[in-house]
Amino acid sequence: MKPWEAYFRKVEPYVPGEQPKLSKMIKLNTNENPYPPAPQVDEAIKNMDIQKLKMYPDPTSEILVKAIAKNYGVKDEQVFVGVGSDDVLGMAFLTFFGSEKPIVFPDITYSFYDVWAELFQIPYVTPALNENFRIKKEDYYTPNGGVVITNPNAPTSVYENLDFIRDILDHNQDVVVIVDEAYIDFGGESALKLLDEYENLLVVQTYSKSRSMAGMRIGYAIGHPTLIKALNDVKYSYNSYTMDYVTLVSGKASMEATEYFKECCEKIVATRERVKKELTELGFSFPDSKTNFLFATHKTVPAKELFEALRKENIFVRYFNKPRIDNYLRITIGTDEEMDALIEFLKKYLG
Ligand SMILES: *Cc1c(COP(=O)(O)O)cnc(C)c1O
Repeated sequence: MKPWEAYFRKVEPYVPGEQPKLSKMIKLNTNENPYPPAPQVDEAIKNMDIQKLKMYPDPTSEILVKAIAKNYGVKDEQVFVGVGSDDVLGMAFLTFFGSEKPIVFPDITYSFYDVWAELFQIPYVTPALNENFRIKKEDYYTPNGGVVITNPNAPTSVYENLDFIRDILDHNQDVVVIVDEAYIDFGGESALKLLDEYENLLVVQTYSKSRSMAGMRIGYAIGHPTLIKALNDVKYSYNSYTMDYVTLVSGKASMEATEYFKECCEKIVATRERVKKELTELGFSFPDSKTNFLFATHKTVPAKELFEALRKENIFVRYFNKPRIDNYLRITIGTDEEMDALIEFLKKYLG
């Protein structure tokens, strides 16, 4: 080891799902949307003024912030945008979790949270979900430095209703409560409805799943203007130009394409409900998903075996080799054709 290595910041990085470089595959492993971005995005990119790329982009991301604010009926001062919700959530951890008390999030949830907590040296506790992968809300009644709830949760797909979120907020009025709603557009009710009542609530959403734009990297947070100002102060202390011109223009176009967005979400929900029935008939069980994925376990065949068998067919799903969830597969809802191919293979393999 070189002497300077003693001064390195040592972190155990987050491991994203695989992005195989195959031309023909069925990719159901990272919860991307199988449908293309809105046609309005295509048009916006084609009509873009590339002279604009000579200049720095607008550090306030005004056109994107305004489009998001308009869509959700909030003020511009209530919207923060970032490079995917990972950037937004990371900024939020850095901005809001300066307490000496631990922040709280479940043992099974989005696996980036503990990575940020370690990176920013934020103390944290991870109370266990119950045997049905539900949050025990009493675990969140203890004194803490902040709360993070993914709703619906990942990778479990479990959704808690707004009464539940309200209860968490009622018991945590002196810290910031982050609700990560990466999957809310697939059937849940957003906590955005509670913003007027709770100034300490920050709702985070993303373009990566329901808006078919994982490759563009856009996420946003909506909350009280004091929270948004604090986030922007931290952002401008680190990197002012997070959102490039192409992203701003296409993000605006996507947010305005309401009809297309709704259609895509409805298609995915319809496919999901059909696949639930078919997988049940094949001996799988799963929590009742309100997301664009199913968290499925088979009554006899181990998840790892299925994961590997599917992989050989170039059907990619996600397997987590972690305690309590190592007999589950997280299967993204793709197009009807993709799901047919998955079911077809499983029928053969299990039959
Ligand atoms: C996908 C996901 C994110 C991150 O999405 P971005 O692509 O960075 O916007 C955040 N939280 C959860 C729970 C997710 O599943």
